[in-house]
Amino acid sequence: MRKPVIGGNWKMNKTPQEGVELVAELRDDLGDMADVEVIICPPYPALLPIGSELAGGNIKLGAQDLYWEKEGAFTGQVSPGMLRACGCQYVIIGHSERRHVFGETDAQVAKKVRAALDEGLKPILCVGELLAEREAGETEIVVKRQLEAALAGVRGEEISTLVIAYEPVWAIGTGRASTAEDAQDVAHFIRRTLAGLYDREKSEAVRIQYGGSVKPENVKFYLAEADIDGALVGGASLKAAVFAQLIRNSTGR
Ligand code: PEP
Repeated sequence: MRKPVIGGNWKMNKTPQEGVELVAELRDDLGDMADVEVIICPPYPALLPIGSELAGGNIKLGAQDLYWEKEGAFTGQVSPGMLRACGCQYVIIGHSERRHVFGETDAQVAKKVRAALDEGLKPILCVGELLAEREAGETEIVVKRQLEAALAGVRGEEISTLVIAYEPVWAIGTGRASTAEDAQDVAHFIRRTLAGLYDREKSEAVRIQYGGSVKPENVKFYLAEADIDGALVGGASLKAAVFAQLIRNSTGR
């Protein structure tokens, strides 16, 4: 049984103080949500105070990226160990904005996944096709390439610690969400690809999220699909009341 997992990716939004206020409100609103795992991914400067605010509760902390080296002359980068020290359990890797705005390659994504696992961080690995790739019928080719590259260094016993987020790039921040059926088709393809890379049993243990314009109004349609176990949420995670409603709706409460 895979536990539903909802992640909030704040991107480059919220000061530390605004972030602490948001998570305090969210925690009070949600109370003890034991049937869904909630992960908040704020910008780096907010990680430490939010980590303190969330300590001992059941909302988890994640970062939006990391660098694969442990320390040294890498101006502007943040190491896996630093994220752990802030209280992070998860880290988003290979988000489409990293890939397409900052030119991150499949090889870099793979190094980040390995570095996260080595530090005991759970990767939320993002994959997904551009609009032109979807229109050219290349969705599966792109997603398979991204998965095979990112998972090249991941051992069978580690794969269930990852969350895979299927995020079609054309659906992110556009209000143009994928249909639940199309998202399910790709999520099923991801699970089949994992079964090929590892085995069927291991693939069944991996949680797959859909991300791309998920809102309180549509989240339940994705979660109702057989291979979709959660959502990665950008815009709708920036207001506590909206995100709390989305989380409640995801489990039908
Ligand atoms: C995201 O940033 O991962 C995302 C899915 O954004 P939005 O929900 O705003 O489309």
